[in-house]
Amino acid sequence: MIGLASAIAVAERGLSVTLVGERRPGEASPAAAGMLAPSVERAVGPAYDFGIAARDRYPAYVELLAERTGIRVPLNRLGILQVGLSEKGVKGLKKTALPTNRWLDPKELRELEPALSHAKGAMFNPNDGAVDNTVLLSALRKLVATGTRVTTMDDAVTGIESSESSTTVKTSSGAKYSARYVVLAAGAWVGRIPGSRFARAVEPARGQLVSYSTAPLRHVAYGPRGYVVPRDESTIGGSTMESVGFDANTTDEGIEKVRSASEEICPSLSLSKTGSSWAGLRPVTPDMLPILGRDPEYRSLIYACGHSRNGVLMAPLTGDIIADLVTGAPLSLDLSQFRPDRF
Ligand SMILES: Cc1cc2nc3c(=O)[nH]c(=O)nc-3n(C[C@H](O)[C@H](O)[C@H](O)COP(=O)(O)OP(=O)(O)OC[C@H]3O[C@@H](n4cnc5c(N)ncnc54)[C@H](O)[C@@H]3O)c2cc1C
Repeated sequence: MIGLASAIAVAERGLSVTLVGERRPGEASPAAAGMLAPSVERAVGPAYDFGIAARDRYPAYVELLAERTGIRVPLNRLGILQVGLSEKGVKGLKKTALPTNRWLDPKELRELEPALSHAKGAMFNPNDGAVDNTVLLSALRKLVATGTRVTTMDDAVTGIESSESSTTVKTSSGAKYSARYVVLAAGAWVGRIPGSRFARAVEPARGQLVSYSTAPLRHVAYGPRGYVVPRDESTIGGSTMESVGFDANTTDEGIEKVRSASEEICPSLSLSKTGSSWAGLRPVTPDMLPILGRDPEYRSLIYACGHSRNGVLMAPLTGDIIADLVTGAPLSLDLSQFRPDRF
């Protein structure tokens, strides 16, 4: 998703782009839950402001995609509920509340979401929500396929070599591509590409998800151990956070944990049939913030990786930033916390 959004944004500014990539089991973008949750998955400082700006970039972005592709990406901006299930949990939620938050007492919560009537209240995070990341990916792929400025190459990158004026990408088919700018956006695998330098800090963190065949909620809801996300006529429950290398399989234990965390938030889900379960590999950094910006030594190498738990949230805005960096446009956001050489 980061590679597609970056390629599209750069092409929109009139430049030609070659997108080199291959599909792999465990890709994060199709696996994700699609939450746009900067108020809950909360950073501090300018990174927090970046998350809010990323969320608020979405309405115009899905509009543009609908115009260009005919695909309307479902976007939920109803707000996210952090459900309190114990006195201690309620205290914790109130203590860490943002000025933009509002506490809903049990009666208000029941009126808003009858399926949460067992809870002791909830913290309401306005404007957060979710996007259907699978539909978003389809729209991005369609835009790339129907446009003229992005050429896609189905190939595995085996190494990159950078100099001040250009970077060369080598692939397993023996091809070599040189460009004035190369953007590294290879998800959890990015640090394994020889020459990727500062992306070596990125590691895979497996997340397992389940889907239920009913949709008792309209809002995304977080509980103490997980979250549930309404999508179409179904609900997604998540997720684990595991360090197991590049193993993208689900486990009985992981799925059991996710189900129990989801059903604790919304008990009626336990009555519904579970559909599929799946796993993906988040590209995580030690501080859970992306690596976004130019290589300090080689200006031709640009990092757009390590988006950790918020890559869907940040994809459209990351595309804008990459297009600014490539075209030399002034940056409107503070990226200091995302500096590639910070680890
Ligand atoms: C279970 C789960 C739940 C999540 N929930 C959310 C959420 O609710 N909200 C949110 O904002 N984020 C969420 N995320 C995080 C989000 O999915 C990621 O941060 C984001 O998708 C990363 O996008 P990416 O393009 O960097 O990586 P990916 O989607 O993994 O894409 C990387 C691409 O690079 C390709 N590639 C890798 N190496 C090479 C190579 N050497 N040569 C060629 N191609 C290569 C891969 O095959 C893949 O196509 C979740 C992730 C998971 C796993």
